[in-house]
Amino acid sequence: MPSRELGPKVSLAIRTETRRMQADDAHYIARAIELARGAERAGDVPIGAILVIAGREFERHNEKERRPDPTAHAEILAIRSAAEALGVWRLSGATLYVTKEPCAMCAGAIVAARIDRLVFGCRDPKGGAAGSIIDVFASEAVNHRVAVTAGVLESVTAEQLRAFFQARRDAARL
Ligand SMILES: [Zn+2]
Repeated sequence: MPSRELGPKVSLAIRTETRRMQADDAHYIARAIELARGAERAGDVPIGAILVIAGREFERHNEKERRPDPTAHAEILAIRSAAEALGVWRLSGATLYVTKEPCAMCAGAIVAARIDRLVFGCRDPKGGAAGSIIDVFASEAVNHRVAVTAGVLESVTAEQLRAFFQARRDAARL
């Protein structure tokens, strides 16, 4: 609906809400970047995720190598810890923040958990399932809608991954 039909007060409220949301988005992605560093210390690809629901925050990072567990992506671990803590599988009202575009497994879990909003940093041209290789969230077959915001602190999140892989290549050459 065009905002002029909503009247100036409603338009202002929407603009204020959008600005607040953008500030929150950057705040949480910045925190997820910090969490991602914890993954790196264990030799895992630096990816961090925070699930925010009802004023509570569940922070995790990728632990695929550490565990080792192919499903231990940051998003899955954040979803699991929230569901366990809250005693429900349905995480309605939640926003999931993650430094990189989710893979197909994580996108599926986000839909399964009925998460409202997904916010991520950089895209993953090789495995991203929010539009890069496929778009799980745009599928007509998926009956739960997730609002997706891409590209928050995009260059910072991309640089964190680039630097990690560069360092790994350099170490392999020694
Ligand atoms: Zn994943």
